[in-house]
Amino acid sequence: MNDDQLLRYSRHILLTEFGVEGQQRLLASHALVIGAGGLGSPVALYLASAGVGRITICDADTVDLTNLQRQIIHRTASVGSPKVESARGTMLALNPEITVVPLSERIAGERMDELVSSADVVVDCSDNFATRHALNRACVNHATPLISGAAVRFDGQVSVYDFRNPAAACYACLFPEEGENEDMPCAVMGVFAPVTGIVGTIQAAETLKLLAGVGETLSGRLLLLDALTMQIRVVRITRDERCSVCSKTAHG
Ligand SMILES: [Zn+2]
Repeated sequence: MNDDQLLRYSRHILLTEFGVEGQQRLLASHALVIGAGGLGSPVALYLASAGVGRITICDADTVDLTNLQRQIIHRTASVGSPKVESARGTMLALNPEITVVPLSERIAGERMDELVSSADVVVDCSDNFATRHALNRACVNHATPLISGAAVRFDGQVSVYDFRNPAAACYACLFPEEGENEDMPCAVMGVFAPVTGIVGTIQAAETLKLLAGVGETLSGRLLLLDALTMQIRVVRITRDERCSVCSKTAHG
C-alpha cells in the first residue's frame, strides 16, 4: 500500500482484527454484486469505500424516479441511465482506486456460472426468487460464498451461505426451489426506505468480514428484521439433507 492508501484505509488498519493484512485482502478481492437497487446501493458503496479491489455489478434496469426514495447510489440526474453506469460513477467518485465492472444485463446460465467462478464472494441484492435460486446453484457448484439479503415492506432478512464449509446450508435448504415462494415486488408491496439500507449494510459488513477473514459471519444463522417494532432476531439454520440443490452436488 502507498501512503495515500494507508491514509484512506487508516481507520480499518487501526482495528487490530483488520490491520494492514486484512485491508490488503480486501484490495486483492473480487466481489460480484447482483442488483444495483435498494440493497445493492449500500453494498456497492461500502465495498467501494472500504477498498474491495474489483467489484463487478450486474443489473439490466435503468434508473427510475421511483427508485430514488431508497436506492441511494443513484442521483436524480441519472434517471433514465443504466443503473450499473450510475452506480459505477458514484463508486468511482468515492474511491477512484478500485476497479468497477458494470454489466447492464440479466445474467443467467453459463454466463452466471462464469462470473460466479471468477468471484471471491457473491452478494445477492436481487429482488426475485428465480435469480436467487440460480445464484445459489452457481455458488454451491463453485463453492463460492453467497451473502444473501431481502427487503420488503418493513421486513428484512440476511444470511451468509459459506460453501467453503461442506456442512453449510444453502438458500434452497430454507426456501426450496419447488416451494411456493411468491415474489413480493416492492413496486406492489411497498418498502420502507431504510430497511433496504439496514439489510444492505449488514450484507456489506458480512462481505467485508468474510473477505478480510475477520470475526464470525452469519453463516449458519438467519437474521430477521422487523423495522416496524425494530426487533431483530437471529435463528439457527441447518442443512436439509434432502435439499434438491446442495445434497446432490460435490461440495459435501
Ligand atoms: Zn441446500
